[in-house]
Amino acid sequence: MNAQTIAYPIHDNLYLSITDRCTLVCEFCPKTQGSLEVRGYDLSLDHRPEVEELVAAVGDPARYREVVFCGYGEPTLRLRTLLAVADHIKAHGGRVRVNTDGLANLVHKRNVLPEMAGRVDALSVSLNAQDEATYNRHCQPQLPGSYAALLAFLREAPRWIPEVTATAIDGLEGVDIEACRRLAESLGVKFRARHLDVVG
Ligand code: SF4
Repeated sequence: MNAQTIAYPIHDNLYLSITDRCTLVCEFCPKTQGSLEVRGYDLSLDHRPEVEELVAAVGDPARYREVVFCGYGEPTLRLRTLLAVADHIKAHGGRVRVNTDGLANLVHKRNVLPEMAGRVDALSVSLNAQDEATYNRHCQPQLPGSYAALLAFLREAPRWIPEVTATAIDGLEGVDIEACRRLAESLGVKFRARHLDVVG
């Protein structure tokens, strides 16, 4: 049996995979298509890594440009674990980015951004679409009100997190990248277009 991959370097960054669960069923996600491999790393999890295991996997965080919470799951579903590991990274001179679906406040039923303040340097938030119908078509949210909650999260996030970037994938049918950019900017955050086959 292969040991599960919870930390994997790509370029100058270290990526951490802390859960394989999420509340979306994105049609473009390799997980939805039955694969848990990214750039040769098997990201299937046979257990949910705890703080100690993650801290050991990070090692010296200052070696990396950023330590990024991502993976084929939504890291904010394990908020307590995420924040404990982020505290360790920050205490040892590292920089923390969280790649998120922006649904943490909906899932946790409270504003979790104040808890992230000072522990998370950057958020990359999957906006994915310029309107709810397109979002629902591509992401199939399991929680009602997801798109509105995502927009509210994006609007609130810059109050607490220094760098907030909304992302959308260029090349998905019906996704208007320029409209996504305008929407992101109207919410007060930056925007970055991603490409369909590049994770991270
Ligand atoms: S939120 Fe992320 S992990 Fe979940 S289905 Fe979408 S792309 Fe995949």
